[in-house]
Amino acid sequence: MIRRFALVLSLTILAPALAQADFVRNNLRFTLYHELGHAVIDQLSLPVFGPQENAADTFGLYLAHRIHSEAEMAEIITDMTALARAEALTEFFDPWDEYMPGAQRLARAICFYYGLAPEARLETARVLGMPSASKRDCADDAEVTARAWAAVFERMVPGPESAGAIVPAREGKALRVLAPDIARVNGVMALPRPVPVVQTTCGEDNAFYFEVDERIEFCREMVDALRARSGR
Ligand SMILES: [Zn+2]
Repeated sequence: MIRRFALVLSLTILAPALAQADFVRNNLRFTLYHELGHAVIDQLSLPVFGPQENAADTFGLYLAHRIHSEAEMAEIITDMTALARAEALTEFFDPWDEYMPGAQRLARAICFYYGLAPEARLETARVLGMPSASKRDCADDAEVTARAWAAVFERMVPGPESAGAIVPAREGKALRVLAPDIARVNGVMALPRPVPVVQTTCGEDNAFYFEVDERIEFCREMVDALRARSGR
């Protein structure tokens, strides 16, 4: 049975064009890091307390936090916010969805982003809507969650014997855009087995991790939709 985890992006209706030059790159980055969270949970057979989609989100942001500068992190969370807010305009609320409602999922992301480095990130988090009253809870929660992921990263230190690199396919816009980031990821984590990353035409705006063959797949439609939203 193919079990797949999706990032659910409903990009079917175009919002006003977003002019940020790196909008596509930043949202592809978080998509990759989120899907890698599923790969890590799967390959290391991690116990997960709570919905796996939430864990994949915190993994994705924690990984970003480990490999990106403060300026890059601010761009990533800002572009994630722009995308999520545009999507929220057309979202249908389903309490049984495996994801939190988009606005809440985004709020948790901003909260965690802030909590990972409160002093450096207060201004950006506030601009993106985090209430001042949330500061303490976000910092406390992030400290606990970061400790959990840090312990996982200690099991993934790359070395000469490492077998499990992220291996991008040669074809595909997403993979060309992400190539430098994939190299950075491979510098900080190695899994027991390789994780191929491919771009295919799948008929929907999405990205997946397939447990059956431990592969990450970007849909070409998702890249196209992000590009359309970026106005480029
Ligand atoms: Zn997912």
